[in-house]
Amino acid sequence: MPDSSSHESSEAPLWGLYGDLRPEQIEAIRDRTPVAFVPWGALEWHSLHAPIGLDSIKAENICAAIAERTGGVVLPAIPLGVNTIKPYKGFPHSIDTSAGLASSVAEEICIQLSDEKFKIVILLTGHYPPEQIDALEEGARRATEATNGTRFLVWADNQLMGDAFKGDHAGATETSFQMLFAPGSVDLAALPDREVTLDGDGIMGEDPREASAERGERQLAVVLENAVPRIKALLSE
Ligand SMILES: [Zn+2]
Repeated sequence: MPDSSSHESSEAPLWGLYGDLRPEQIEAIRDRTPVAFVPWGALEWHSLHAPIGLDSIKAENICAAIAERTGGVVLPAIPLGVNTIKPYKGFPHSIDTSAGLASSVAEEICIQLSDEKFKIVILLTGHYPPEQIDALEEGARRATEATNGTRFLVWADNQLMGDAFKGDHAGATETSFQMLFAPGSVDLAALPDREVTLDGDGIMGEDPREASAERGERQLAVVLENAVPRIKALLSE
C-alpha cells in the first residue's frame, strides 16, 4: 500500500486512506477532490498458492493507485463476496455473503459518503461474478434515490483492463496483481505438479505459474489508463 498524502506537495493530488486520516486531512482532500473509493473484496478460496483475501487486497491497492493520481479518499476494503467459489464448487475457507446483505451495506456506505459531502463514490470490486455486480448496482441505485448530488459508480477491475488482460479467478491475472501488491504472499510451489483446473483447484483462467509482479505492473498501468481519465472527466462535469 503506497503512503498516504501527508508528504505530497501542494501541486500533487491529495489523497489518503480514510481510516488513517484526521478530520482536517479528510476535509483538505475532499475540498480539492470530492471522490471516495470503496474497494470491494471477498474472503474466498484462491487455490493453494494465493491468500483468501486476494480480492480485497487487489481492490484496495488498485483504488489507492488511482487515488494517488486523481486525489480522493480510499475506504478500507469491504470483504463481502456474493456467490463465491464455496457455493459454486465447494472449496473451503470462503465466507459467502447474501446479495441482500451486500446491497444493504453498499447502500448505507454510499448514503453516508454522500452525507459526508463526497460528490463521486466509486465502488470498485475485485470480486466480480454477475451476482456481485448486481448486488452493488442495486445498493448504488437505492442510494441514488435516497440522496441528492452524489454520483455512485460500480466498477470491477477486470472491466478496467479492456482486452489487454482477461479477468480470472486465482489465475495468472489475479496472481500477478497479488505478487505486485503483496510480495511474498504467493507460493506457486504449493500448486500441484500438473495442469490446474476449476474443479480440481478452484482456478479459472490462465495458469497462475505464468504470473509475475512485472505483469502485475503492466496490468495496473492499463487499469490506470482507463480509470484516471474517467474520474477526471467526471470531476470536470
Ligand atoms: Zn479473486
